[in-house]
Amino acid sequence: MKLLCDHMLGSLARWLRLMGYDTAYPEPGPDRDLIDRARKEGRILLTRDKELAARVPDAVQIRSDELEVQIREVAGVLGLRLVDPMSRCSLCNEVLVPIPAEHVKGLVPEAVRSRHQEFWRCPSCKRVYWQGSHWDKMVERLNHLDLPRAP
Ligand SMILES: [Zn+2]
Repeated sequence: MKLLCDHMLGSLARWLRLMGYDTAYPEPGPDRDLIDRARKEGRILLTRDKELAARVPDAVQIRSDELEVQIREVAGVLGLRLVDPMSRCSLCNEVLVPIPAEHVKGLVPEAVRSRHQEFWRCPSCKRVYWQGSHWDKMVERLNHLDLPRAP
């Protein structure tokens, strides 16, 4: 399942990526571009815009301003679950690549490097990810939402 968030839904897009969903989040632009991209790439459009949602088959209209409620709204319609947490860059949607711990020297704080064995890197923006406190908070927040886990 591939998703496309309109420019009102930046936080939601980042969270959907953290959950493992391929989620496009284009620059602000005409509705026409969103509609075309959704169709061309087979993505489900998520939008705050009621009229736009009505024009696109299978689009999901998001009503809330609040991130957790938004995730629940999407989950209610599309049956979201934790597909593969930490598999995508939350900033650019690229699939993360595991990198050996010895290769992150100088890329992450020394204290982080000594405490963790597994690291991932985004091939596009080069950001390095690890299962640190940010990860724990994310998992905790997602658990709190009580979404079903992937089998
Ligand atoms: Zn990235």
